Amino acid sequence: MYRFLIVLFFISFSYSQNRCGSDEYRDLLTKKGLFVTQEKANQNIIRTGQYNIPVVFHVIYNNDQQNIPDSQIFSQLDVLNQDYNAQNTDFVNVPSEFEDVAGDVGIHFCLAEFDPNGIPSTGITRTQTDEVSFSMSGDKMKVSIEGGVDPWDTERYLNIWVCNLNGSLLGFSTYPGADPLLDGVVIDYEYLGVLINSPFPYNLGRTATHELGHFFGLEHTFYAGCSDWDGCDDTPPIATSTFGCPDFPQESCNSVISMTMNFMDYTNDACMCMFTLCQADIMLGTLTTQRAILLENSFCEYNNINDFLHQKNLVKIIDLLGRDTNKKGFNIEIYDDGSVEKKYIIE
Ligand code: ZN
Ligand code: CA
Repeated sequence: MYRFLIVLFFISFSYSQNRCGSDEYRDLLTKKGLFVTQEKANQNIIRTGQYNIPVVFHVIYNNDQQNIPDSQIFSQLDVLNQDYNAQNTDFVNVPSEFEDVAGDVGIHFCLAEFDPNGIPSTGITRTQTDEVSFSMSGDKMKVSIEGGVDPWDTERYLNIWVCNLNGSLLGFSTYPGADPLLDGVVIDYEYLGVLINSPFPYNLGRTATHELGHFFGLEHTFYAGCSDWDGCDDTPPIATSTFGCPDFPQESCNSVISMTMNFMDYTNDACMCMFTLCQADIMLGTLTTQRAILLENSFCEYNNINDFLHQKNLVKIIDLLGRDTNKKGFNIEIYDDGSVEKKYIIE
């Protein structure tokens, strides 16, 4: 009896955090007519080096604690750039059984250098709100007049909202095919970035790594259980989600060895460390088709405007085609002293 009680305690503890709301959110949007299932992304793409995309973090806060510092956001960006380029230090923890299928996605994330109006930006917005917390079903964090922040053009920016989520939910993302005004990722402020004070065991920035997997079209590895409907043969079927930090190997679905350390399972941040080759192909397939405009709006590979001018061999003026939120065209003129001017095109 005593032993039974201990087991119960651990089960309830493991499930006290809601690791990911993306599947439920997809169902919610589908019911509202705000999600259209997409064709599977073409996975037979030929890689052309690094894929760079601009990110904007929208910090929405009701108190100082929720107004997380820039350093926390930078640490999250570092985690994403490591995890999506197989440069995470714990990549060495990939078991030898899975080394052959471990994937390097090759996506690089950088803070947006311009806002949708072409104004130079830090890629971080900060907004005070009267809302004490936000619910996944309400979408208020994505709507300015509801106490949140409207997204920057979701075709051109990866929007990540950071706010206080209701209950124990860590984060959720849209899958490709969601309404453009809702497209992006939401992470609870306590689980963004690497912080020793963040609630263990979700304090190493892996919530965002996981959610971005959904943003780029990945299903959970346990999706449909042993039926293995995640679209990848190199992620072994697994009956259900995995919590905690299980020893290797674990078995599931007729003695198949489980890949509990996959970013698209639910283990502790410190116990997930890999995407697979198939998952990498799905994500790049999604990025280069359904989310391709993100790639046209990035200056990740340049340290600053002058570096950009130099590398592009431009001396005085360059034109960058941009669009404001009303889809009106404008040029941004960048001068060799680094100053930027925006000029509208009258169409
Ligand atoms: Zn998930
Ligand atoms: Ca699979």
